[in-house]
This record gives sequence, C-alpha cells and structure tokens, in this order.
Amino acid sequence: MKIAFYDTRPYDKLWFDPLLKDAGHEPRYIENRLDIHTLEYAQGADAICVFVNDKVTKEIVDRLSEMNIHLILLRSAGYNNVDMKEAYEKHIRILRVPAYSPAAVAEYAASLLLAVNRKTHKAYARTRDFNFNIDGLTGMDLYGKTAGVIGTGRIGQMMIDILKGFHMNIIAYDVFPNSKLDIQYVPLEELMEKSDIISLHCPLTEETRHIINDQTIGMMKDGVILINTSRGALIDTQALIKGINAHKIGGVGMDVYEEEDSYFFEDWSDKIMDDRDLARIITFPNVLLTSHQAFLTTEALHQIAATTLENIKAYEDDVFTPNEICYQCEEKGDCHRRENHQK
Ligand code: NAD
Repeated sequence: MKIAFYDTRPYDKLWFDPLLKDAGHEPRYIENRLDIHTLEYAQGADAICVFVNDKVTKEIVDRLSEMNIHLILLRSAGYNNVDMKEAYEKHIRILRVPAYSPAAVAEYAASLLLAVNRKTHKAYARTRDFNFNIDGLTGMDLYGKTAGVIGTGRIGQMMIDILKGFHMNIIAYDVFPNSKLDIQYVPLEELMEKSDIISLHCPLTEETRHIINDQTIGMMKDGVILINTSRGALIDTQALIKGINAHKIGGVGMDVYEEEDSYFFEDWSDKIMDDRDLARIITFPNVLLTSHQAFLTTEALHQIAATTLENIKAYEDDVFTPNEICYQCEEKGDCHRRENHQK
C-alpha cells in the first residue's frame, strides 16, 4: 500500500521504515501537519497515517473520499481529532493504536509530579548557572498524601500503581469504575475536595472537556498539584491561569495544552509567540510544561509501528479488530458490522 504519513519526525521513519519496507508498503513521510492544502501530498496514496495534532475534519474526510482514500491510520490512542461520523458515512475506516505503552505515559506523569513538587526544573536551571542556593525549592512528602486519579483505564491504573509505591492514599473517579481494582472510587466533587494531587487520565470527550474549570478548581485544596498527560482541553486554560494567579493551584505538570496543535512539535525559539495564554503559562515558576512527549520511549515507538502494521494488514485482509473505531457502533449501537467490530 502507498501510505502518506503526516506530522512525521526522524524517529517515525526510524521505527516505521524497516517494518513497512519488509511488508512491501510504500511510505511517504511528510513533515507537515495534515490540513486541506497538505492533503494534496497524499495524491495517489491508499491511506493516510496521522498523529495527535493532525485534525481530520469533515472537509478533509470528504476530500479523502474524492481522492479514493478509504483508510485513516492513527499513530495514537486518542481519536478526538477525527470526524468519525463523516468517515463512517464516506465508508472510510479508522484504525488506531489503543495501547502502545501505558507505562511510558504513566511514568512520565509521575516524573512531572516529582519534578513539579520538588521543583527539580528550577534546581536544574540554578545549578547550570552555578547558583547553588536552595531557597524557594521546598516541596512536600508525597508519602501519606492523597492522590486523585481521573480515569482508571490502562494509563490511570499504571499511575495508581506508581503512586501506591510512594505510599499515597488513592481515590479515583471514572464513569465506568473497575471493580477489579483495589481502589476507592469517589464522586468527582469529593475527589476535587480531598486530593493533594490530581492526575488526569481520561480521554477528551464532550463530557470531559474542561473537566478542570473555575468551579472544580474552586473545590480543590489550596496548593493542589495538577498533572495532565491526557489531552489539553480537559483543562480550561483561563481557569487554570486564574487558579495559579490566585495561589490556589500550587503546581502544574502539563504535557498537553488546549491549543497545542499550532505549536507543539515545532521549534518556535526564533519566533514571536502569539499565544498569550501559552506564553503566560510558561512564565509561571510552578508550571512545568512539555510538548506532548509522554509517549516518547523506544518501546512505545516500536509498538506504535508494529500495531500500525497489524492495522494495515487487517484492512487489507478485510478483517475487523478491536483497534477499529466506528462511529455507528459507538454512537448509535446499531452498526451492521457491530459483531465484527468486537466492541
Ligand atoms: P483507556 O481508554 O484505557 O482509559 C480511559 C479511562 O477513562 C477509561 O477507564 C474510561 O472509562 C475513563 N473515562 C471515560 N470518560 C470518562 C469521564 N467522563 N470521566 C472519567 N473517566 C472517564 O485510555 P488510556 O490508554 O489510559 O489513555 C488515556 C488518555 O491518555 C488517552 O485518551 C489519551 O488522551 C492520553 N494519552 C496521552 C499520551 C501522551 O503522550 N501525552 C499518550 C497516550 C495517551
């Protein structure tokens, strides 16, 4: 198959190339993000392969259909960036990589928590400048504190295991509580009120958009630490800035940002940052912001490439896998292929 890969970096080529070539596929690596103009680079391809900040809008889906492209491969677990309804109507199939390394993301979330709490990012900057003063670097023991985990799926569960290792008390909120887990589920409000740290591990949906907002921040303990490695729009940016300014929020570790698609993965160091909110957030000393890199381990990159290859094969063989996302199955429940979709 001819596959147009969007928003690619050298590490994508490194991991995909051997597998694709072995299987006889023809990759076309495109550095640009997908939009209606760059879509033209996919002319003659059989599939497009996109990442988290490629927006597969209705307009793009319609154009894909005109270009006779019937497969969208996601190199990610989250799929909030795809117009699933339009894809279903245009008979375009969508396959994703549901779990490439939950450990990679959970370990990264924990690393953000440790760094923000103990101000390691500030200490590093100081010692690089031969400033060995430790004033203002006081953190708190995590031991015995309460961690609130929102979303107890693959990544949330790994994060809980790590936090248990720190002897934290765990409380959790999930719309589908998992009775097999040895944790206490509480209502969302209670989690907001009782947690010393809150870590977000739910997907971005209409229900979870701005789950962290003025009201929920108002319920939180003073000095709470927020960790977001899920999706930026789980947090209302304006509410976050207000909460930090009011000294309500004690620290933030964020690997994602609501408007990240214009900036993340690009070098903006020589340009004028035109997103004032992002610029403001970066100025806060108690915020550690990184550019959507929680997934970035060799194990995860290998798994993303390997699963994408399996997805291509499943499509070619017209076999259905749980990696397929189907609007009709999820929204309407009456898909004629429902059994095959193995939801
Ligand atoms: P998962 O599907 O295994 O788990 C998600 C959990 O969230 C499920 O238990 C689900 O029931 C729960 N949930 C759904 N709606 C909810 C709601 N309204 N309130 C509370 N909980 C809700 O997903 P996962 O593999 O654990 O991944 C979680 C998220 O992490 C993904 O959706 C993705 O956005 C993000 N992610 C980020 C990176 C990164 O590099 N930063 C990498 C991979 C995944």
